[in-house]
Amino acid sequence: MRRVYIPSSLRQLVVERSRQRCEYCQMPEEHCADIFELEHVVAHAKGGETTADNLAFACPSCNRRKGARSNATYLDAQTGRRVPLFNPRSQQWTRHFDWSDDCTKVIGRTATGRATVDALNMNRTAMCNLRRAWYAVGVHPAQTN
Ligand SMILES: [Zn+2]
Repeated sequence: MRRVYIPSSLRQLVVERSRQRCEYCQMPEEHCADIFELEHVVAHAKGGETTADNLAFACPSCNRRKGARSNATYLDAQTGRRVPLFNPRSQQWTRHFDWSDDCTKVIGRTATGRATVDALNMNRTAMCNLRRAWYAVGVHPAQTN
């Protein structure tokens, strides 16, 4: 994947807007060893522009799993329909996702939410274990919007 230059002022806007959490899985950057990335909601390779309206702050795992598939549709196992992935620029996280009762898993509330949880593998074991630890020390879940 070709690197795209993103001006520091634009980077800062995207990072601050996200409150330094992955806009897909809500992982807080401050509690992770990984350096988060700016990703194109509509992939740059597919004509997505490097603008505030098309950039999201993402953990490396969500960014890699999503990759250039941003325009694709994904199968929702519950309805059998193909639906678009969650778009953090045009959709609200809390409409499409919620936390499990123990706050370790992201639950898709809509077909788009369920397909996105599956496509980005948001509930992999390591993530659930991290959320359990963060919950125990009171830093998870953060306020979502
Ligand atoms: Zn993520």
